[in-house]
Amino acid sequence: MLKHAPEVNVEEGLDVRFWGVRGSLPSPGPETAMVGGNTACVEVCGGGSRVILDAGSGIRALGDSLMAKGEGEDLTILLSHVHWDHVMGLPFFAPLYAGKTPITIAAGPLGLPVESALERQMSPPLFPVSYDAVRSRVKTVDLAADRHFRVGALTITMLPLIHPDPVIAYRIAFGSSSVVYATDTEHLEGQLDERLLRFARGADILIYDAQYTPEEYRGEVGPSRKGWGHSTFLAGAELARAANIKTLALFHHDPRRTDAEVAAIVQRCREHFPSTVAARENLSLRVEVPPSVASRHRAELQQVAALP
Ligand SMILES: [Zn+2]
Ligand SMILES: [Zn+2]
Repeated sequence: MLKHAPEVNVEEGLDVRFWGVRGSLPSPGPETAMVGGNTACVEVCGGGSRVILDAGSGIRALGDSLMAKGEGEDLTILLSHVHWDHVMGLPFFAPLYAGKTPITIAAGPLGLPVESALERQMSPPLFPVSYDAVRSRVKTVDLAADRHFRVGALTITMLPLIHPDPVIAYRIAFGSSSVVYATDTEHLEGQLDERLLRFARGADILIYDAQYTPEEYRGEVGPSRKGWGHSTFLAGAELARAANIKTLALFHHDPRRTDAEVAAIVQRCREHFPSTVAARENLSLRVEVPPSVASRHRAELQQVAALP
């Protein structure tokens, strides 16, 4: 059912498109050109609705693409958290400076209102354009960590992950199909994260933080990365197998990771979970939703509260 799709936003399917896949820091250059150097931004479309996951540097190209198609309004951005690499692209997101409809930006509990976090990022002397320039076009929503809500035809659930600052995983469903976005999370050594396992169970696509190799994580190559809040492809493969995931997309690649190294990691990961891909810029994945399932999903949507 899963295939590579040239275009997203076709009805009766769940489409995922990667605009930024890098962790921590943008990493342009000839050695990263195939996977891409932009930080986290993923577009998910289903049933004619769209959500944008995170606003790393990859969101700039998405914004330009939406503007070119005349679709720069009625946008919802869900932030996993507000670490730099997940919000740095927002001031360069063209729809923020155009259109009349507010763009909704929502996040789980951050320790401060999401509006304050965005305001801090866009404030002198850190950034030349102040948040006041876009305030009228941004509607911010602070979500409790256990919210279940809908954005158009998409239903969304949330789960806090394991990271130095609060971070949220999102599960986005349309009909019987779903994608789980679980980045910036550290696995538990020697055991599965049972909460994430339950949350992700049966998803078609699991987008998972695979910043480190197991050897890097343990400190056999460079310093130990334990406690840094990121995971490995091996932990992703074990989770994907236990949760009966259809496709595992390795995400949040380390900024130093070359294209050749990402390819080698995918090969290693496939030994543990064959249906593994590396998230890379412009990669689209599509899960088809049978029309009968889609229409049942639409009928049930009224029971789910819309994002306020
Ligand atoms: Zn990150
Ligand atoms: Zn982070």
